[in-house]
Amino acid sequence: MAQYSAVGSDHHIAQGASSQRHEYLLGRWIGALFAILFRENAMQIDEQHKEGISVTQSKTTKSTTHWLPRSVLASALLVFGACLVVPLATVEAQTAPAAYAAAKNDPVKLRNFLFRMPKGGDLHNHLTGSIYAESYLGWAAEDGKCWDIPGQSISPGPCASEQVALAEVFPGGRETPRLSVDPMVDALSTRNFRLREESGHNQFFATFARFAEASFGRRGEMLAEVTHRAGRQNIVYLELMQSLGMLEAAELGKATADLDAQLGQRVDYAEVDKIAAAVVAQVDAMEAKARAVNRCDSDAASVGCQVKVRYLAQVLRTWDPQEVYVQTVLAYKLIEADPRIVGLNFVAPEDHPVALRDYRMHMQFIAEIGTLFPEQTKGITLHSGELALGLVPPENLGWHISEAIEVAGARRVGHAVDIAHTPDLYPLLKKMAAQQIMVEINLTSNDVILGIKYPYHPFELYMEYGVPMALSTDDEGVSRIDLTHEYQRAAQTFDLSYARLRSLSRNALQYNFLPGDALFDDTYKGKISGPCANQSAAEELSSGCAAFLDASEKAALQWDLEKRFAAFEASFD
Ligand SMILES: [Zn+2]
Repeated sequence: MAQYSAVGSDHHIAQGASSQRHEYLLGRWIGALFAILFRENAMQIDEQHKEGISVTQSKTTKSTTHWLPRSVLASALLVFGACLVVPLATVEAQTAPAAYAAAKNDPVKLRNFLFRMPKGGDLHNHLTGSIYAESYLGWAAEDGKCWDIPGQSISPGPCASEQVALAEVFPGGRETPRLSVDPMVDALSTRNFRLREESGHNQFFATFARFAEASFGRRGEMLAEVTHRAGRQNIVYLELMQSLGMLEAAELGKATADLDAQLGQRVDYAEVDKIAAAVVAQVDAMEAKARAVNRCDSDAASVGCQVKVRYLAQVLRTWDPQEVYVQTVLAYKLIEADPRIVGLNFVAPEDHPVALRDYRMHMQFIAEIGTLFPEQTKGITLHSGELALGLVPPENLGWHISEAIEVAGARRVGHAVDIAHTPDLYPLLKKMAAQQIMVEINLTSNDVILGIKYPYHPFELYMEYGVPMALSTDDEGVSRIDLTHEYQRAAQTFDLSYARLRSLSRNALQYNFLPGDALFDDTYKGKISGPCANQSAAEELSSGCAAFLDASEKAALQWDLEKRFAAFEASFD
């Protein structure tokens, strides 16, 4: 199995790459023989999972002519190869699985394959952490902000001593810095973090305070950046986490909340409603600005305009109980108030002393307040088990995931890498599989923050037990990655098949929090029941299927992804 030697850049993926990239062919007809053999390979890969290849297998079967046994073809190829060795053009694989099989051990080709491959979505993606440092520095320069040299951070103007006006660093705009900004970019991200005297964990979390000032007033530009980046990668959907209104909710909690009062009377709900209304207005403004930045109403619209975006309200879990409580109420209120806000999450370092101390209490908060918002409890996802031995005492390991699921009612869990420490490991895995509790997998983040990577990452354990997973970035700006990078990392680290990658892509829509019934019974097998069961994405919709998709926002987007897969797979014909 290919493994990563380091993180943060595609440059590091080369460990498993074939040292031989040169391909030799003996003319056109031998090329055809190769193509047949490649197809056979692809079929063997997919045949392990016979029903998971509805589109690709039928294409393969249709286009392959078995007029000679494979052994004869291979022998012919070897004989001619021994006689005539001439450099030839690269063979173009003629199905997506074949192209994937051919690219799998070549990180350059694999990057391109996965970049173009449709990806359902990114369900674990913090908006402020998704912005690249160069953008923050550029906006800060335009907004008259400063670089604080001792703090290695962006600070508000006017600039004091030991601070540099960023406008002077970027006199001609964000693309023309006067000085090297490399140290600033490093300070605002985990780039080159191994050269610093800080752990990946501390560097990662320190960046958020360093760039926060630059995010103020720039939400629209931030949304434009992440959607544009997603659109370029053929990503259909984003569920972005942000904490709009949470500071105000925490202040309200600190000033007025009474956690000893009866449920429903612990908080001034009318005040929370006012905060929720202000957040909805902020989301309106942010989306309008993003559409303007991406020129969505013009002929020159960014690909980002095609990306559907929904939001998760993120509660900061390292504050006092009253503050966390009212944030949680606000999160539920926001889901109730605005269909664009589809769920909630608890964030900030799970290993923080307050987060550890209050974890059980927080799960109770989510459950109790959820009884007042039963409809909104469908959108609960929680960072849980983002912990490692050594980072915290062993007694803190092995129970956060089960508490999130069993007490708080989480439908998805983020990271979930400490599961090996769970006393009842196998019953928990079976329960997650049975209840279809999806795990949001963040491979680069886990490596940098926790030092957890193959073979210590539980990805294969979840796969073995049929626990659904989707790949996500966590913080693509801080980590200097993108979602394609995470697909590549997963593909190479775990030696995944094309069918598995397609399933991971589908899962991001199957388990998102959009309303409506999901399309698939099984994303891996491609099994669909109901009115769209015998429908191909390349055909005209039956009236029953069209009605089903009309009634389900989730399934409609899933169908869009299937159409993209059909087009992607047809591109290899
Ligand atoms: Zn996260």
